[in-house]
Amino acid sequence: MKTIMLDMDNVITDGSFKELIEEFLNTEINLEQTTEYDYVQKYTAPFKKEFWEWIKDKNFYENAPLLDNCKEVLERINDKFNIFIVTSYLWKETIDLSSNNLKNKYEYLRKELPFISPEKYIFTTNKNLLNFDIKIDDRIDNLKGGKIKILFTAWHNKNISDEELQKENIIRVNNWQEIEKILTKELNI
Ligand SMILES: [Mg+2]
Repeated sequence: MKTIMLDMDNVITDGSFKELIEEFLNTEINLEQTTEYDYVQKYTAPFKKEFWEWIKDKNFYENAPLLDNCKEVLERINDKFNIFIVTSYLWKETIDLSSNNLKNKYEYLRKELPFISPEKYIFTTNKNLLNFDIKIDDRIDNLKGGKIKILFTAWHNKNISDEELQKENIIRVNNWQEIEKILTKELNI
């Protein structure tokens, strides 16, 4: 059975990062016009100390919906692949409070995707050290070590050209239906 590394943030769910920052700053953030991965740090830089003090007890996954079709596709393929959810939980600004984030991530996955065993969760920041048959992530660096590399479109990677992706043998997907199509093809080979 082929192994899949499945990223959590911006692949399974967008969480409620943006909404929390908007609440803190009392303004709207348009991710269409943002290309930086670390937009949280950028927008909150002038109020760094207050922001991290305010956010440290918040749950980024409370009321956060799964991305469209994520659950349905995962339910259909779960017994056909060996799927691991690989996700980072460390917040470098408040590193010793990261255990809250770890707990929130764990509880979210248990509640929203109960058919994936917690034994299949890998909490790490060093995803590029892991080898998998198929890797699905929204960050190119995390796809290293994958025989098949699938990049999930997000605000920070939308400007990476097809040429650049081709060079690295990376396939871009925009939604979960496209993931299912690629994986179904894999099963027929
Ligand atoms: Mg991600």
